[in-house]
Amino acid sequence: LNQTIIHQQLQQHQTSYVHRVLRSKLFIPMQRDQPLDKDMLKSQLLMQKTGMIRRASLGMYMTLPLAHRALENLIKIIDQEMSNIGGQKLSMPKLLSKELWEKTGRWESSGDELIKVKDRKGEEYCLAPTHEEIFTSMLANERIATNNLPMKLYQIGDKYRDEIRPRFGLLRGREFLMKDMYSFDKSVADAEETYNLVKTAYHRIFSRLGVNYACVEADSGNIGGSTSHEFQIITDVGEDTIVSCSKCGHSANLEKADAECEPHPEKSPIRASFAMLKNSAGETTIIQLWTSSSDQPNLHSTKSHFSNIVMFEPIDSKQKDALLAKSPNTPIRVFIDQSIQNNSNFEKIYPSMSSSLQSFTVGRFREVKEGDRCVRPECTSDAERGLMKFNRGIEVGHIFRLGTKYSVPLKANIKNSEGVDVPMEMGCYGIGVSRLMAALVEAHKDLDGIVWPIQVAPYKLIILPYATELETENLRKATELYDYLSKEPSLTNQIILEDRLDITFARRIKEATIIGVPYILFVTQSKTRDQDVYELEDRTTGEKSFFNMVELLYFFR
Ligand code: ATP
Ligand code: MG
Ligand code: MG
Ligand code: MG
Repeated sequence: LNQTIIHQQLQQHQTSYVHRVLRSKLFIPMQRDQPLDKDMLKSQLLMQKTGMIRRASLGMYMTLPLAHRALENLIKIIDQEMSNIGGQKLSMPKLLSKELWEKTGRWESSGDELIKVKDRKGEEYCLAPTHEEIFTSMLANERIATNNLPMKLYQIGDKYRDEIRPRFGLLRGREFLMKDMYSFDKSVADAEETYNLVKTAYHRIFSRLGVNYACVEADSGNIGGSTSHEFQIITDVGEDTIVSCSKCGHSANLEKADAECEPHPEKSPIRASFAMLKNSAGETTIIQLWTSSSDQPNLHSTKSHFSNIVMFEPIDSKQKDALLAKSPNTPIRVFIDQSIQNNSNFEKIYPSMSSSLQSFTVGRFREVKEGDRCVRPECTSDAERGLMKFNRGIEVGHIFRLGTKYSVPLKANIKNSEGVDVPMEMGCYGIGVSRLMAALVEAHKDLDGIVWPIQVAPYKLIILPYATELETENLRKATELYDYLSKEPSLTNQIILEDRLDITFARRIKEATIIGVPYILFVTQSKTRDQDVYELEDRTTGEKSFFNMVELLYFFR
């Protein structure tokens, strides 16, 4: 096909049809009844009410058009920042064969969080919770030379984890959207440079979202590796606790801060550990295992402390073994393994429990008191040591230096200058995209509803004509404004026209406000004002200004 033919064909299909986004035709199933679930977070409630999401089954959600548009905006920002550092986008299967996962040992070590499935031939697979194995093995199978590196490959796709407690809607789902990047380098120094480069890109992403966030030192968990950082959105409803020093500025996830204090439990911000025990009859009880003031395990019933348990790490038997192997000296773990079940004291206090112990969960109790002194070398002398402060956060991003944890077992090698095969140095970098969207709703809301930052908002503007079924003049004017403003590229397909005349004007305003469209344009008749001047409300500040058509166009340009 040459250019002329293409042009003729396009002309044939040209119509004068201009699509208007009419509110009456949008699938925004607003929910007016209060849900019964008392554990719901405000953001989750708002996303339900504004028809962004619907629950399909435990931890599985339908992402409806408003939420989908917000996600796509987030993806655009992430894609831009990933391209800016040389990231190449691709996509991987979600059903992954057991073989590779056995090679790295994660088929077993992932525990019950890994969803395993069998095909009709009996072959075993897992639903991808993360994709290190397949990326690494892909590069192992291609001829990668030193001058092809660094290589940064990423995808944005669904991940699956059988979370022990899926909750808070998209914040902890069993299916969720993740951006995951994997980097490959020829040396430790290069890998460190790549890690820092990606970290900077993450700072740019979260800065662009205009949200209060922190980059904190973190534990690398089952993914492994040496250095790791989390990006946390600071909010009171976060599940994580961030410890930060008022003086040296160092901040870390409490899990990590505690691990650093392991040789000196008295310096640990965590004060005690608990176990929740369940017997075969399903009865549960909580016992205190260890406090940082005494190394001796003690068995007290501490039911009254239950509400104070702020971190709760569920541990099943497989995870327990992995943890024991990782840090055998931690008092909690030693005690659980050797003492609980045959401790005579325990039998005396909990006779029914000790005879038929089924499962246990370990939790840790943190004193909610702030002001432990910082133990970092940066905070030099005792007198000058900064005070530790606690904040709650939602983990929205996590980056890891993996070293050769995956490249060794999967043989992802390059030839060094002497022609010898050496494993590539790797890193991996995640952003929970669906969690991030929910966290943004949590961070950007007021008493009237969601307040979308304009860069993520599903629509930028909604036009509200003051019209009734009998009096439609303002609807006509609103339509004219709609067509005029839609020509501005930044507003094309970004405006909703509220055309429902069968509901009250007050309700139309209320709905526009709760769904969080950043700008609301009122088309009303006013005797005192010029006919062609319209009121524009900024949803974030509540400020109202008056503009004519041309001024409006310039405002959004
Ligand atoms: P968490 O501590 O909250 O369980 P994680 O440390 O297990 O998260 P990572 O393995 O670091 O998660 O995965 C990368 C990112 O994926 C996380 O930073 C988070 O934003 C997101 N994520 C992890 N689990 C979930 C989930 N169940 N639902 C939604 N997003 C998730
Ligand atoms: Mg997890
Ligand atoms: Mg975590
Ligand atoms: Mg993490």
